Amino acid sequence: MVDAGALKALVERRVGSIPALGITLGWWKGRHGGLKSLCRKICGFDSRTEHMIIRTGRRYSVEEILKHVKDRDGSRLELDGDHVGVSSTRMLTFKKSCVCVECGIVGTHFWKEKHHNFSRFHLNLYAVDSSGKEILMTKDHIIPKVRGGANALSNLQTMCTKCNNDKAAMMPEQWAAWKELYKKQPKEKR
Ligand SMILES: [Zn+2]
Repeated sequence: MVDAGALKALVERRVGSIPALGITLGWWKGRHGGLKSLCRKICGFDSRTEHMIIRTGRRYSVEEILKHVKDRDGSRLELDGDHVGVSSTRMLTFKKSCVCVECGIVGTHFWKEKHHNFSRFHLNLYAVDSSGKEILMTKDHIIPKVRGGANALSNLQTMCTKCNNDKAAMMPEQWAAWKELYKKQPKEKR
């Protein structure tokens, strides 16, 4: 059994792995199907409890954030009293493009957010859909990490949460086949 404290450290430090435990975030995602279950393990929440995401400050436009994003390890930016990372591969992916490669929705603004159990805020990119709802933008591994894909910019692309959830850990050819199949099916059968 992996203990919750070690998992919390794994996510908070964003090291990507705990060699002593032999686990990585990719391993967890591959085995348990998502980071939600990881949060549940860390917090001890049951399925009736929502995870609390704390949002603070104001909306930041992509222009005012992305000009500070640079490929230098540990770069942090002071934003209205909080220091947020701006050199992660996720932020560098957004700097390449804020547009979902699948549905074309455009990330327009950032919020400072954190999981209630963690101390540091980070920046999350959001788009707004046609009904006015915010959609979280993510970095997608073209070749999934659990299938050996690198965490390098050449293997990363911007995708909205909806499309990324559909793609899951599919290889590019499986994803292409899935989309082909989906296009032929009536929507309600999805
Ligand atoms: Zn999308």
